[in-house]
Amino acid sequence: MEYVTSVLDLIGNTPLVQLRRTLDLPDGGPLVLAKVEYLNPGGSVKDRIATRMIDAAEASGELQPGGTIVEPTSGNTGVGLAMVAQERGYSCVFVCPDKVSEDKRNVLRAYGAEVVVCPTAVAPEHPDSYYNVSDRLASQPGAWKPDQYSNPNNPRSHYEETGPEMWRQTEGRITHFVTGMGTGGTISGVGRYLKDQNPDIQVIGADPAGSVYSGGSGRPYLVEGVGEDFWPDTYDRSVADRVIEVSDADSFAHTRRLAREEALLVGGSCGMAAFAARQLAHELAATPEGRDAVVVVLLPDSGRGYLGKIFNDDWLAQYGFSSGGPVASRTVGQV
Ligand code: PMP
Repeated sequence: MEYVTSVLDLIGNTPLVQLRRTLDLPDGGPLVLAKVEYLNPGGSVKDRIATRMIDAAEASGELQPGGTIVEPTSGNTGVGLAMVAQERGYSCVFVCPDKVSEDKRNVLRAYGAEVVVCPTAVAPEHPDSYYNVSDRLASQPGAWKPDQYSNPNNPRSHYEETGPEMWRQTEGRITHFVTGMGTGGTISGVGRYLKDQNPDIQVIGADPAGSVYSGGSGRPYLVEGVGEDFWPDTYDRSVADRVIEVSDADSFAHTRRLAREEALLVGGSCGMAAFAARQLAHELAATPEGRDAVVVVLLPDSGRGYLGKIFNDDWLAQYGFSSGGPVASRTVGQV
């Protein structure tokens, strides 16, 4: 019989899928491969760090049997943590900014977690900011805060698992890695691992316009899960060779294209990262060496959590974004 004894055994080893139509490149350009993280059992890349952080806290005694996990999360880390908590008998309280979709909050509740919603438009030091609210909850007896923004097991899980997977799957031929940055755990862990294998590998961050990673002041943007208004400890500033800034409009339009033209129903940060990868692919296609490049872009989560937002024409129109129009009207080759 073929089965696993726990759903947690299904985390990781996600496949690479070639992107084609959404690159708008003629044949013979660089190979662009998407690492499809929504195929993790909790539906996102964050399953990886959740297990790793909980394992480490159990080992160190910070998390005791029957304890409560408290974390500020935009949803995906919560799902991962809730899944592990469910298996091992912990309670969970999640603190989310109000821009996080109701769909995502309901997923957390479905796993049995409690969700506390905080305003986005306040400074991190404000008492109602989601960082401060979670600190207060985490000071209760029996509570443990994984703190994905400073927990070294976040980047470590990517150094020890996500990075080696990509290296193995591309047979060491990966030349460029593109990813969005929230905590920075993915770019720091994967990027460092890849550079340790081959220092010539280029690590490229994709970032919402307005976020500090691309030189912004932290002004609001709508894409979820990526971009920051501060520099997290989990972000290794020495690893990115370059950061490509992407507007909300381009992120959302490209997210819709991935669903309709590649049949990849993914989230907004995936559209953002894939748009940056597309820009890179166009640059590479212009040089002879670049045409042999192997680009891997990490797509963190599924589009199911955004059906009421990015995939809803009225929601897009409310913010002045276009819903894309029919696929056939696109000009192949446009940049
Ligand atoms: N996309 C989504 C949807 C996320 O939830 C996150 C994590 N906040 C990221 C991208 C960024 O990943 P990381 O925290 O590893 O930088």
